[in-house]
Order: sequence, then structure tokens, then C-alpha cells
Amino acid sequence: MVASASRRSFLQFGLAAAGAALSPGWVKVAAAQGSPDPGTVPVKATKLADNVYLLQGVGGNMVLQTGSDGLLLIDASYAPAVPRIREAISALVPTPTSAPSLLINTHWHGDHTGGNEGMHDAGFTILAHRKTRDRLSHTQVMKLFKRTVQPSPAGALPTQVFDETFTIYRNGDTLDLRYFTPAHTDSDIHIHFQNANVLHLGDIYFNGFYPFIDEGTAGNIDGMIKGSKEGLSLASPETKIVPGHGPLGTKAELQEYHDMLATVREKVAALKKQGLSEQEALAKKPTAEFDAKWGKGFMAPDVFAGIVYRTVQA
Ligand SMILES: [Zn+2]
Repeated sequence: MVASASRRSFLQFGLAAAGAALSPGWVKVAAAQGSPDPGTVPVKATKLADNVYLLQGVGGNMVLQTGSDGLLLIDASYAPAVPRIREAISALVPTPTSAPSLLINTHWHGDHTGGNEGMHDAGFTILAHRKTRDRLSHTQVMKLFKRTVQPSPAGALPTQVFDETFTIYRNGDTLDLRYFTPAHTDSDIHIHFQNANVLHLGDIYFNGFYPFIDEGTAGNIDGMIKGSKEGLSLASPETKIVPGHGPLGTKAELQEYHDMLATVREKVAALKKQGLSEQEALAKKPTAEFDAKWGKGFMAPDVFAGIVYRTVQA
């Protein structure tokens, strides 16, 4: 079950990568590749706490908090998924309050922000790190995929931004938001629900497969290791840890992920320090001990090791 969930997530992320890059014609391309259409895949809700739910469809994992202070949603998948997201919310909250709704973006990538405009049209105000607004406002290049991402429409842009930390008191909980130093991108934040004991780490955390690191927007392996360590420092054994992609995680699973990143980093850094070129370093198979568990996802072992090589400070 876990294996098939990981597999499914990887297929979804494959679409994610293509999707962010090929908008608006990317749905056709993704369909041609056999990836699921985010407009037709239902968004599944899993209860994490009394009024907190994990929402999973195509694209990044989302979290919904409900209550009389208004809906709070973390991330918004792709634009075509918006009707499916709204259906999932309506099933959980048949009679919503008139209180204002809030959407938080974990970072700028299109599989987390593509639905921004649609959710804004549905009444959500958008909050994110300042860099998310900056990145969405201008043309971006996803270097690994050699793709150009066009600026987002005005309605998709966060209208509230912060730099380091932000606190939200809402629906009986306290949410701590904090910026990571550049890790997956330079716009990543986490959201920690103190009472519900839920931690959304965005794409700092890929549960069950090698992560994508967007070196084109300042992502780097050392930031990923530091970010996953920060996540561990906030978590207890009971914390429900939401990865950007993959199934819901535990502190023990996040620890295993962190340790895998740290070990691969040390191996690759040692080869780079010896003066090996990227191709020579990859030929040494520095991820070999982890490939059976982590190498079956969207990031092939050599692709992941290449990113580590190019972004590590050896
Ligand atoms: Zn991402």
C-alpha cells in the first residue's frame, strides 16, 4: 500500500514537473505521457485532527483547517484541480462560514500554486513568503527540465507576504510559519499547527523517494539537510508530518530521510573534493545503498546525485 502510494506520488510529481513548465498546454502533454489529469482525479481527504485534514489529488499535498474563523488551506495544486479541491472542501464543510478564507503557499512551484487564481476567485486571500510572490511575478526557468515558467496572473499572487516568521491564531490553534534558508527553492516555508500537532514541510520533504531540488531557484542539498533537521526539531513521535509529495510521514521516517540526504551529501562531497568531474562521481554510484528504497520515484538516482554534486559546498 505504501509502495503503491509512493509510486502514485512519483507519477504525480512527474506531472508536476512537466506541468509547472508547460502551462497552459501542459495538460495535453501530461496526458500524452500517461500522467493523470488533475481535472479528473478526485481530491481525497484524510483526517489528521479534529478540524485538520490532509488533501491529496494531483500535485503537492494540501492541508485544510476548518472552523468558525474561516477556512485555511495550505497549497492549491494545479489550476485544473481547483474544482476537485472545492468539491473536497464542500464535502467536509457543507455550510461554510462567511468568515474570510486564507490560502498559504509553501513555495512558488506550479504544482503548489497553480490553483491560486481559482481559489482567489473563490474568496481566498493568499499568504506566502516574499520570494514566492517575487518568483510568481516574473518569468522563471526550471533548469533541470529546461523549461520556462511564465509569470502568474495578478489574482494568483500572494497579497500578504513575510520574511522570516509569521504567526496565525485561527480556529482554536496557533500556527507557526517560518522561512527555510534556500533548500528546495529560495521560497520555502513550513507551517506548524501547535495544537493539532501537524507539520507541513512543503517540498523540503519527499516521503519515500529522492527529492527534486530546484537549483535554478537557489535550491541546494545543504539547505535540504538543514531544513529536514529543523523539521525534526519541531516534531514529536506523534507529530503528523506532511511532505510536499508522498504519503503522510512520521518523525522516524523524516529522520531516515534526513540521514539518507546527509550520507549521500558526504559521499558526493568527498568525490567532488578529490577532483572528480560530475560524470566521474556519478560513475562511483554514490547513492547505491539507498537506491532500492529511495530510487524508484520521479528522481532517478543519477539525476538526484547530479543535483547533489552541482549544489554541494565541497
Ligand atoms: Zn516544489
